Amino acid sequence: MQVTRLLFMVILSSLYISDAAAQEEYWQQDVQYKIDVSLNDVEHTLDGVLQMNYRNNSPDTLTFIWFHIWPNAFRNDKTALSEQLIRNGKTAFYFSKPAQKGYINKLDFKSGNVSLEMEDHPSFIDVVKVILHEPLLPGKERNISTPFHVKLPYNFSRGGHNGAAGQSYQITQWFPKPAVYDKNGWHPMPYLDQGEFYSEFGSYDVSITLPKNYVVAATGELQNQEEIDWLSTRSTTPKKTKLKTQKNKNAFLAPAKKTEEIRSDTQLKTLRYTQDSVVDFAFFADKNFIVRSVDISLPSGRIVKAYSFYRPQFADDWAESLKQVKDAVLFRSTMLFEYPYNVISVVDADFGIGGGMEYPMVTNLSSGLGKQQLMEIIEHEVGHNWFQAVLASNERMHPWMDEGMNSYYSYRFEQRFTEGKNVYRDHRAGLFPEYGQHQGPYQPIATAADEFSAQNYYYMAYHKAAGWLEALETKLGRPAFDSAMKRYALDWKFRHPGPDDFKKSLEQSTGKDLAEHFNLLNEKKITTDPSPKKKIVSGLNLGSERPDSIDYIHVLPVPGYNTADGLMIGAAIHNYTGPVDRFRFFISPLYATRSKQFNGIADLNYTWYKSGLIKKITPGFGFSRFSSLSGKDSNDARISGGFIKFTPSVKLTFRSPTLSGTSERWLEWKTYIIGETGFSYNLKASDGNYYPAKSAIQYRYINQLAFGISDFRVLYPYAASLQ
Ligand SMILES: [Zn+2]
Repeated sequence: MQVTRLLFMVILSSLYISDAAAQEEYWQQDVQYKIDVSLNDVEHTLDGVLQMNYRNNSPDTLTFIWFHIWPNAFRNDKTALSEQLIRNGKTAFYFSKPAQKGYINKLDFKSGNVSLEMEDHPSFIDVVKVILHEPLLPGKERNISTPFHVKLPYNFSRGGHNGAAGQSYQITQWFPKPAVYDKNGWHPMPYLDQGEFYSEFGSYDVSITLPKNYVVAATGELQNQEEIDWLSTRSTTPKKTKLKTQKNKNAFLAPAKKTEEIRSDTQLKTLRYTQDSVVDFAFFADKNFIVRSVDISLPSGRIVKAYSFYRPQFADDWAESLKQVKDAVLFRSTMLFEYPYNVISVVDADFGIGGGMEYPMVTNLSSGLGKQQLMEIIEHEVGHNWFQAVLASNERMHPWMDEGMNSYYSYRFEQRFTEGKNVYRDHRAGLFPEYGQHQGPYQPIATAADEFSAQNYYYMAYHKAAGWLEALETKLGRPAFDSAMKRYALDWKFRHPGPDDFKKSLEQSTGKDLAEHFNLLNEKKITTDPSPKKKIVSGLNLGSERPDSIDYIHVLPVPGYNTADGLMIGAAIHNYTGPVDRFRFFISPLYATRSKQFNGIADLNYTWYKSGLIKKITPGFGFSRFSSLSGKDSNDARISGGFIKFTPSVKLTFRSPTLSGTSERWLEWKTYIIGETGFSYNLKASDGNYYPAKSAIQYRYINQLAFGISDFRVLYPYAASLQ
């Protein structure tokens, strides 16, 4: 007994020690950047010099560093980005003109005066390996520099340029940047539209040279007092700009083009921004921006300067933007930790993805969304300063850790400011409807960004994950949950927490074993409330209601004709235009006026979604009946012959290697049971003529095994089958 207890205590204490040791073992690299860059707004190019000091805090000796050179994602239509855009049905980049594409070149990596060799990545032209001339030992630093030239693409995704004369700039993912090296090794990754980032923390000292009349919003603190003063003079709509309220209904596709064209100043200015402890640096430049600012006083008394930059034609939508920034900053400062930087900016700029995109201290929001949605997105993107900029998880691998957690706090924000009404959540749920239990494909919350289908990325990583956190809150009770989240945020700020770190932190705070709840992250389906009963909607009603709560049944009048059946009148009843459903049917009964019989077509199938190799099992049943012969028998009565066909089938659809893939392989067994009624001709003695008579129905059957491959991608879709 005592021995057992002693053993138990030894095990417990050794667990505790190894746990503490694991905490101490945590390390991350540190990068100090100094970048001088100038913008050429005629050529839409950047020319710069990057100097960085890379500190190896890992226990490993490094012989090379992977660099992301992401402007190359826009170089041609064979990049990982291009392929993903196509897969997600976005063809604008694929069909773009050469002038709209982008790239980075003139790279010449050096350490001191020693030139460093570069090696291409085997798959991605926007990733390059820089070989160190001598190994970088643990605890040592290395200076690395390179010039760079960037041709900015038209903004198809998050960065580039657009607007009047193409002179509205969104400069993101623009400089050569080392990939993260952590306990799991290197994380080189191509730039993607769907799937975000993972970057080292560091300090930035960035000097930007551009024509004097550009207004710039950027990560970091602006060091030029003269410029700060100038920004404060831009708080009103310029007189010469007509306040033309422009509602751009389709901001995602067609960026606003009516911005006043202002000629660029021939004089240049150089703006310097500095910042410690950030994972990225982005800047936005536009000559039209109105600039407003407000001071936010944090609970500790520290003042944060909040800026909003927007184009005059969207002034109405942006009128309350600073209030929203302030509320969002104060809310998360109370719930998690105080906003750690001294400046925060929100910027009106159209970009390929649309909506909002967060960068440390500066957030990009597309206009034309309407005020309500703009306010929601401001709150969400400002929130990313906690879940991503400071709690800097690997978003590409674990998108739920930033999007899901951030969405959860957006729900909480809503509750707090709307007396418990969850406008934001309801609105989001409407935008990204929950798949009914029967509607595939489900994917686990813990799925890498690029592995999600486009819709699931939003649904699973954002809202399913937020729902999972709500369930955890319910399980632990709000006070315990809130303090555990606060503990996690404080312990992991300015670090790279992974899912295990999050779990361990919550378990330590609450003293509970949360394995069961965390296992749900890997479940495809999480059973929540039973889904509301479906409404049946008939007719051509494709309204704006949540498509998962409606069964669409369409009834259309259908005429038909063939010589044997004559004119046929009937209807087509089907549910083929609604969301993909388990049970699909198409029934078209037709009354034939000549043969005076009911003909028609029916096709019914039912799909079971499975896990494993077989994705779907679809048994089906087809029916058709038509006449092909018509005549008058010996009694002058009209008779007809023809066929009746029954086709039972079963189709197995195989899972493609990635759920987000567009190609599909299937195997189908189909039996055609065909009954034919022909005519036999008999001699009528009274007039010596031959008259047709219906012969008995004769059945035959044909079996068919078919294998098919189809690709539903937007470019060159194809389908082929072998039978
Ligand atoms: Zn987000």
